[in-house]
Amino acid sequence: MYRSHNCGELRASHNNTEVTLSGWVQGVRDKGFMIYIDLRDRYGITQLYFDEERTPKDIMEKAQKLGREFVIQVKGTVVERSSKNPNIPTGDIEVVVSELHILNSSLVPPFTIEDKTDGGDDVRMKYRYLDIRRNPVKNSLIFRHKVAQAVRNYLSNDGFIEIETPYLIKSTPEGARDFVVPSRMNEGQFYALPQSPQTFKQLLMVGGMDKYFQIVKCFRDEDLRADRQPEFTQIDCEMAFVEQEDILNTFEGLTRHLLKEINGVEIEKFPRMLYDDAMRLYGNDKPDIRFGMEFGELNEVAQHKDFGVFNSAELVVGIAVPGGNSYTRKEIDKLIDWVKRPQVGALGMVYCRCNEDGTFKSSVDKFYDQEDLAKWAEVTGAKPGDLICVLSGATNKVRAQLSALRMELAERLGLRKPNEFAPLWVMDFPLLEWDEDTERYHAMHHPFTSPKPGQLELLDTNPGEVKANAYDLVLNGNEIGGGSIRIHDKKTQAIMLKHLGFSEEDARAQFGFLMDAFEYGAPPHGGIAFGLDRLVAILGGQETIRDFIAFPKNNSGRDVMIDAPAPIDKQQLEELGLILGKKQ
Ligand code: ASP
Repeated sequence: MYRSHNCGELRASHNNTEVTLSGWVQGVRDKGFMIYIDLRDRYGITQLYFDEERTPKDIMEKAQKLGREFVIQVKGTVVERSSKNPNIPTGDIEVVVSELHILNSSLVPPFTIEDKTDGGDDVRMKYRYLDIRRNPVKNSLIFRHKVAQAVRNYLSNDGFIEIETPYLIKSTPEGARDFVVPSRMNEGQFYALPQSPQTFKQLLMVGGMDKYFQIVKCFRDEDLRADRQPEFTQIDCEMAFVEQEDILNTFEGLTRHLLKEINGVEIEKFPRMLYDDAMRLYGNDKPDIRFGMEFGELNEVAQHKDFGVFNSAELVVGIAVPGGNSYTRKEIDKLIDWVKRPQVGALGMVYCRCNEDGTFKSSVDKFYDQEDLAKWAEVTGAKPGDLICVLSGATNKVRAQLSALRMELAERLGLRKPNEFAPLWVMDFPLLEWDEDTERYHAMHHPFTSPKPGQLELLDTNPGEVKANAYDLVLNGNEIGGGSIRIHDKKTQAIMLKHLGFSEEDARAQFGFLMDAFEYGAPPHGGIAFGLDRLVAILGGQETIRDFIAFPKNNSGRDVMIDAPAPIDKQQLEELGLILGKKQ
């Protein structure tokens, strides 16, 4: 038996108990005639005590040779400490050691296994197994488990069945590039790893499994923006015989359960917002509504004066920064530089100070009098003491820019509080999205999303205007889930694919199996998928998903620990038919 107790378990009530513990040496304090060792495992730290009087000489000598991260087993007696450590749960006791076995030695670790380590990101990733011994990472993984478990319980109790779907499949159009896997047995042919199990979960609905979920890996070969992973985990869900309202209620229930179970936060009803309103009020389809600073559109009150920049703009839009009138000229100039950075891309920023005495002072006083500026304040909701920041330009661009500024200012003002939770449904997304690069429409969600009832005809005349039965669940400015009611008849699916630029043959080759299934009694259905990594990070009050993933990849998509991806040898390439070799 390696251990009778773990290292986080012993208390004063165990006084005089004989115990066996195993774990890692966190640290040794050798005072010559007495030695203290902190023994660590997943559950905590227990102090071991050796002294010249009570500890046999050979054990004393062995203890003196222990280094950090050695794996040891000890037997000994629990005693109450004379000077207790209130900072750790086992701080009332220590174990007086009578036997010591070194189970394994350790090299000196390349960074300290402490909450605040001296190890940089790269080295921690290379030795991730050591990093996992640290509390912040260990606790994040345990936290993830708790969330996943709560999800499984909730959905299982609600009649959902977890069903696995295959990884070696064919392209699923979620808008990213596929990772592909060459098939040795079918030379020259490739599987694609699923960007999501989308088509399979729909086929499960045709199969009659009317409530499906799966905590599942998805793979998308995208240029990695900050805090994305090429493989990530979804809570993937689908239901049959449902309308949008059923889905929203079911998964609002799940999210409410998680917030309560994990964070102790009770939220009654999640607010809902139309996509168009989210864009108009926040410039963003995933608005953080923990704070206000809603956009005020100023076209009516700021155009038709002599200020050419505004007159020629499609949209003039501003936000009120609470207390922003206290910014110095220099600070405002810095803000202007910030919006002009290429990442944001504004050409400039107009501002207006709202003085405490009710007067205004703007950077464009030449063109606007006090009455005009009072209207700006009214539209943006600015109060005395605030600062109005105004951007102008092409609608979509300027909304994105002002949204970036809004988030930045909120961050600086401490308005994005990690322990506050503001969920929001964003609904009625456009069905299609114009892509500047390819100069054609793409499905905003995916090609299986159904248009709003009665809008199918609009596809021919005004495709950009068609709205979808699609919804996102947003939490604190992050999209944590997204889904839609699906198309479930072959005719509509064919029309949709045609509008997305698929020829009939291409549609057949890529999605023939789904269209065929639709001819065998496909029930109305819809679903949603949550990004588990992000959800866990937000519930855990963290900004990044990395520490909630046991073995994450770096920003270049590399696993630096196992050194992947890596070349494969010539023979393997030949076998796969990827290079000409003996086989030919
Ligand atoms: N498959 C979708 C996604 O990965 C989610 C859904 O529509 O259920 O975003």
